[in-house]
Amino acid sequence: MKEDLTFEAVKEVFTNYLQQKKHRKTPERFAILKQIFDNEGHFDAESLYNHMQNEYRVSLATVYNTLDLLLDCGLLVKHPFAGQTSQFEKTFGNSIHHHLICTKCGSIKEFSDKKIRTAIQSKTFSGFESSHYSLYLYGLCKKCKSQQKKK
Ligand SMILES: [Zn+2]
Ligand SMILES: [Zn+2]
Repeated sequence: MKEDLTFEAVKEVFTNYLQQKKHRKTPERFAILKQIFDNEGHFDAESLYNHMQNEYRVSLATVYNTLDLLLDCGLLVKHPFAGQTSQFEKTFGNSIHHHLICTKCGSIKEFSDKKIRTAIQSKTFSGFESSHYSLYLYGLCKKCKSQQKKK
């Protein structure tokens, strides 16, 4: 599992993918990738779009389209969070972490655990090379739990 990737390496993955699938290698697509590379955490398409307006003007349609391409080539994951708008996260350069998801309000908390990490990394799968993983724990967050008690 690679955790320390340079932007050049990520760019190369995306370039190869675009070439293979015969998609155009537009500067907008790479600007979006750079924006994702430079930022941590979860994001949705609109907040990414809003962030980008200061640096590089792209249309919201281009953002959605590029996110789809990045999902398809495995540089991005879409989190199966309850209720909310789709939340994305890059699969490269992140420290490995897991997610606690509130099924009521959709809030996301991250955690990491050395034991889980060691257990998964020491596992081998014949013929399968894993690149990244994530674990989701579903339940009620502190806030929603206390609200539930009041009722
Ligand atoms: Zn995360
Ligand atoms: Zn909640």
